[in-house]
Amino acid sequence: MSAKPSPVTTTIDYEQEGKQRSYLRLPHSRNSSAWGSILIPMTVVKNGRGPTVLFTGGLHGGEYEGVVSLMKLSRELQPETIQGRVIIIPALNLPAVLAGQRLSPIDNKDLNRVFPGAWNGTTTQVIAHYIHDVVLPLCDAVIDLHAGGYSLSLIPYMSMHYLADETQNQQTFAAMQAFEAPVSLMIKEISGEGLLDYAVERMGKIFLCAEVGSAGTLSPTVVKLADIGVRNLLKHFGILEGEMMTREAQGLPPSRLMEVPSAKNYHIAIAGGIYESFFELGDWIEANQTIGQIHFPENFTWEPQPIIAQTSGVLLCTRGPGFVEIGDSVAVLAQDLDVS
Ligand SMILES: [Zn+2]
Repeated sequence: MSAKPSPVTTTIDYEQEGKQRSYLRLPHSRNSSAWGSILIPMTVVKNGRGPTVLFTGGLHGGEYEGVVSLMKLSRELQPETIQGRVIIIPALNLPAVLAGQRLSPIDNKDLNRVFPGAWNGTTTQVIAHYIHDVVLPLCDAVIDLHAGGYSLSLIPYMSMHYLADETQNQQTFAAMQAFEAPVSLMIKEISGEGLLDYAVERMGKIFLCAEVGSAGTLSPTVVKLADIGVRNLLKHFGILEGEMMTREAQGLPPSRLMEVPSAKNYHIAIAGGIYESFFELGDWIEANQTIGQIHFPENFTWEPQPIIAQTSGVLLCTRGPGFVEIGDSVAVLAQDLDVS
């Protein structure tokens, strides 16, 4: 951890009892504002002793359900109804959220690739550094809400990584199931370094990442799922009283326990063009089956380029828009996970 102080300030006192709604203030000098700031809304609700949970949304712009759900939670939650502390930051990378795009328009960086950040870095790195050095040490668990953004369509899921520490693994697994998403997913990342996930996991804390929402849209079904999930988690951690809203109680089938165990589960476009998927989300695909194909509209003599399944599984994630560039993710297959 850096010993350097963050340039980010806030009027919020994390140890104060009650409900505080304010901003993380980040100095942002620009042509139109010499002494300007970026103000990132944050709500802290605290009542007595108990665990601290951080909810984050909007690490990427263009991912809307989590942002909306956490804004509702931040309005609704009152100190007298909780035991412990809840920190809610619905739009952590506010410049990206306001621009409706994945990366920050200020420095073109992905907030979920720059952790642990840098106190003297660019805007996105400074946000990450403050969260890493100031907020994460306060927390027992971090719940990060994402969606498919512009580029991906997904079956809504709550996910965790395979963790080496057995206690951390079991506690994270129990929390994942409490969210009651359609799919509960163990996942091997291929996203590289700098994720908030790894920063929290290295501190020995519980980290969950939800993918709730698809292709830059906002689905009422998925917002409801997120609303129920975040409240279920607060009940799971003993912060909020009351019965969990199970999927059974909603007349839904139980959460499907699945995994994405290997890089083979991820399929990328090996050419740029128009991607035609042969399957819908949730369909079963056998290994070596053709998942879809890429067409080349500039030349009718070129045969489409097939995308061949490297493993069998359920289509968990597919490309959102029709056009793909070489290297884009076009299909992720997931397998059922046997916990016994
Ligand atoms: Zn995201």
